Amino acid sequence: MSLYLEERIKCITEPKQKAQPKVYIRTFGCQMNEYDSEVVIGKLLQKGWALVHNPEEADIVLFNGCSVREHAEQRVWSNLESLKKLKQRKPKMLVGILGCIAQKHKERIWERFPFVNLVCGPANLSHLPEYIKELNEKEQVLAVDKQERDFKDFCLTFPAQKEGFKSKGYVVIMSGCNNFCSYCVVPYLRGRERSREIKEILEEVKELVRNGYTHITLLGQNVNSYKNNFVKLLEEVNKIEGVEKISFTTNHPKATSEELFRAMRDLPKVEKYLHLPFQSGSDRILKLMRRGYTRQEYLNLIRKLKEILPEVRLSTDVIVGFPTETEEDFLKTKQLMEEVRFDNAYIFKYSPRPGTEAERKLKDDVPLEVKKRRNQILLDLQKRIWREKCRR
Ligand code: SF4
Repeated sequence: MSLYLEERIKCITEPKQKAQPKVYIRTFGCQMNEYDSEVVIGKLLQKGWALVHNPEEADIVLFNGCSVREHAEQRVWSNLESLKKLKQRKPKMLVGILGCIAQKHKERIWERFPFVNLVCGPANLSHLPEYIKELNEKEQVLAVDKQERDFKDFCLTFPAQKEGFKSKGYVVIMSGCNNFCSYCVVPYLRGRERSREIKEILEEVKELVRNGYTHITLLGQNVNSYKNNFVKLLEEVNKIEGVEKISFTTNHPKATSEELFRAMRDLPKVEKYLHLPFQSGSDRILKLMRRGYTRQEYLNLIRKLKEILPEVRLSTDVIVGFPTETEEDFLKTKQLMEEVRFDNAYIFKYSPRPGTEAERKLKDDVPLEVKKRRNQILLDLQKRIWREKCRR
């Protein structure tokens, strides 16, 4: 274990001096949110804060939440409800809501949870220590004015690994999304696509390696749209001595190419795993979702991938109960899953996200009971496929 890691573990697990302020952070969302939380921890550790694993011990409790799925939002709200009592017992304890959920609900969060002190959007996170300082003089701070993350200010900060002993280091290579799928809030909350320079990314990877990280995950809302050539970036990261494994997420079928599949095959450090969301097996629904590909185009991609890299492991995202989804549409989704036989599938029941095109233009007309049933059918199917794969 590197000296850095030993220091990091000490920093996180050893008893802290009394005067040291303590932060508790909990993340509700995707790997981007996990990364953001790590950057926040890194920033606060640098400023002399200690990380604790129990809100009871904390001077500030931070919830970093995603707004893409309703489920993640609901978890933030219910955890805030539970925090109310602790706040009554410890009135000096500060509470902050971070991430897309803060960006989306802004000051409206205070209507329901007036005890929240800080509301900070994802592009403002790099200034978090300053906002906390402001709370010495103010009851509440709202920091949602920035629309786009400032890479220079943010990404080269070395992220603290929460548990302190993981060997996985995250590097954000791009942020935002231009796709505007009709159900998704990401382009509204994280802005348009912006890519970092290759040189800057490679420096950060080397910095992670110097600090003991051997597994590098390249992150972005759609890494295949990385403007400076994603395959070239993979080749460059693959050359770095000390990197043992490279993962990347997430991918969009529209921008995924055979060139990427060949790179996955030929670059020894790149994981033979691809997360490729298909969302629906029905062309009619894919069009309503504005996904930009057809069922057949998706299947062609998978066929090509399996030809080039037969041992590939595949996962996907699926939405059931999208507006107007009929039984026939649903069966097409089920058939696609049966045909591809994913190793893992994240299955979601559609819920309208405020501000999206689907929410504005399409009636959420599939009854909840139907969504639940379709969801369960796909869960059972995926379980069966996985069991069969394991047996083999
Ligand atoms: S590709 Fe579509 S679903 Fe993915 S982040 Fe962009 S808009 Fe959202």
